[in-house]
Amino acid sequence: MEAIQTPSNVTEFTDPSLEVLFSAEQIRERIRELGRTITSDYQGKELVLVGVLKGSCIFMADLMREIDLPLTIDFMSVSSYKDGTVSTGDVEILKDLSNPIRGKHVLVIEDIVDTGLTLTRLLEILGSRGADSIRLASFLDKPEPRIKKELVIDYTGFVVPNRFVVGYGLDAAGRYRNLPFIAVLTSAETKT
Ligand code: 5GP
Repeated sequence: MEAIQTPSNVTEFTDPSLEVLFSAEQIRERIRELGRTITSDYQGKELVLVGVLKGSCIFMADLMREIDLPLTIDFMSVSSYKDGTVSTGDVEILKDLSNPIRGKHVLVIEDIVDTGLTLTRLLEILGSRGADSIRLASFLDKPEPRIKKELVIDYTGFVVPNRFVVGYGLDAAGRYRNLPFIAVLTSAETKT
C-alpha cells in the first residue's frame, strides 16, 4: 500500500509545531480516576452519557470503559454561531438525542470548555426535558476566556492555559483528532 505523502515526511505524531502538554499515560491515569469517582457518584442511578460530537468521541470512549455501572450512551451535535471568531452563544442542533432523557441521570461529555457559551445553551436545552439530573464532564477546562463564569464543570480532566490545543479528539480544521496526547498547536497561534 502506498504511504500517505506529507510535507518532508512529517507525520501527525511528530509535527514540530506540536508541544505536548499531557502524555497518553497521564491521560490514561486521569481518566481512570474520573471513572472511579463517577462510578461511586452514580451508584444505583440510571446513567446516560451524552457525548457532544465530534470532539468528545475519544474522551467518551475511554471514560465509559472506566465507569463500572450499567449505562447507556447518546450523542448530540451542535454548531455554535460565531461573530468573527467569538462564539455568540446561539446554537443550532445538528443532531439531537436518539432517546428521551426524562427520569434519567444525564452526564454531558464535552472535549473542552472555553467561553462556556455553547455548553450553557446546550445545558438549557437539555434542562427542559425532564431529566432527574444533568451534570457536565469536560476533558479540558480553559478557564481564562470563560464568559459564562457560572457554568459548573462537575468532572474535569485537566485545566489548560489559554492556548490552542489539539489531540485526543480535539482538532484544528479537522486534523489532529487522532493524536493520543494533548498538545499546543504553536503554528495555529502564530497565525492568529
Ligand atoms: P465555547 O466554550 O467557547 O462555547 O466553545 C467550546 C468549543 O470551542 C469546544 O467544544 C471546541 O470545539 C472549541 N475550542 C475551544 N478551545 C479550543 C482549543 O484550544 N482547541 C480546539 N481544538 N478547540 C477548541
